[in-house]
Amino acid sequence: MQTRTLPSRHLAGVEVRLDPSVLVLAALVAWAFTGVFRAEHSLGVALLLAAVGAVLVVLTTLAHELGHALEARHRGMEVEAITLLLFGGVTEMHADGQTARDELAVAAVGPWISLVCAAGFGLLATFADDLFPGTVAASLGQLAGVLGWWNLLLAVFNLVPGAPLDGGRVLRALLWMVTGDRLRALRVSVRAGQLIGVLLVGLGAATLVRAGAQAALVAAAFAVSGVFLVRAASSELRQAELSAVLEDRRVVDLVATPPPEVHGSAPLPWPPTPAGDGAPATSPEVPCVELTDDLHTLIEAFQGDHDVVRIVRAGRTIGTLTEAEVARAIARLRRGEPLP
Ligand SMILES: [Zn+2]
Repeated sequence: MQTRTLPSRHLAGVEVRLDPSVLVLAALVAWAFTGVFRAEHSLGVALLLAAVGAVLVVLTTLAHELGHALEARHRGMEVEAITLLLFGGVTEMHADGQTARDELAVAAVGPWISLVCAAGFGLLATFADDLFPGTVAASLGQLAGVLGWWNLLLAVFNLVPGAPLDGGRVLRALLWMVTGDRLRALRVSVRAGQLIGVLLVGLGAATLVRAGAQAALVAAAFAVSGVFLVRAASSELRQAELSAVLEDRRVVDLVATPPPEVHGSAPLPWPPTPAGDGAPATSPEVPCVELTDDLHTLIEAFQGDHDVVRIVRAGRTIGTLTEAEVARAIARLRRGEPLP
């Protein structure tokens, strides 16, 4: 998500970033709405209604994401930001200490808000004649109707039970509650997400074959969504597996069995000098981590083009670790092998 974004805003204390691709979403929606409204209105009125509709689509998408963000914050999680983009929205949050119940609530609240929006717009559409002046009642009713269906579609699509969709997170939370095994629950929701992604690509291909070139845009939308789902689900699994491997391990675990007085290409110079005589840990170029730091901190220390970090105990450098050594150690942990 570290792409260029339009200027960000804060809403209810949550940073809202607009990815430039959200303009593509708004334009596509406005184009589709213009087609809908053009049948009964002049071009000017159709364009105006379509523009209002596009803004409301983006705003209701924001309401959905804001639901996730506020529920997460209410449950003590740190919310990084909401990013609105072509595919809707993403809420980045730190899920440390999250329980299955927290995950269920945070995931379910988004589709719930979309359903509430759908119901609200549905009521506006139904009672448009009573609510709005006669000249604009039909147009506003039609706009509310389209927005109601849009939000219903958003809620239903997001409730499809495959990661990383909200429905996938709901499924994961429920399986986690039942089995008590978070990673296993995640694997099931990821497989479901990948399967749904493959089905969407197949649906895109079938649409193209059956309806021909005039349905190319719809077919492409299915295929792109499918590929996006498969990739997002796979990356979610990789990250979760990495987190599971890193959990509860510390820097000291990677250097816990130091080789005695090895010269030449020792995998770990350990310790080069007794702790008391070690060099002071003040070198600005080489980042340092404490023996007691967790492995997330160690991995973060390599960011910014560093390929070596110093291991520090009580302010003294007692050894170094290269990025390759850490990568090898983590690969061993992922394969379930003990560290050398
Ligand atoms: Zn959502």
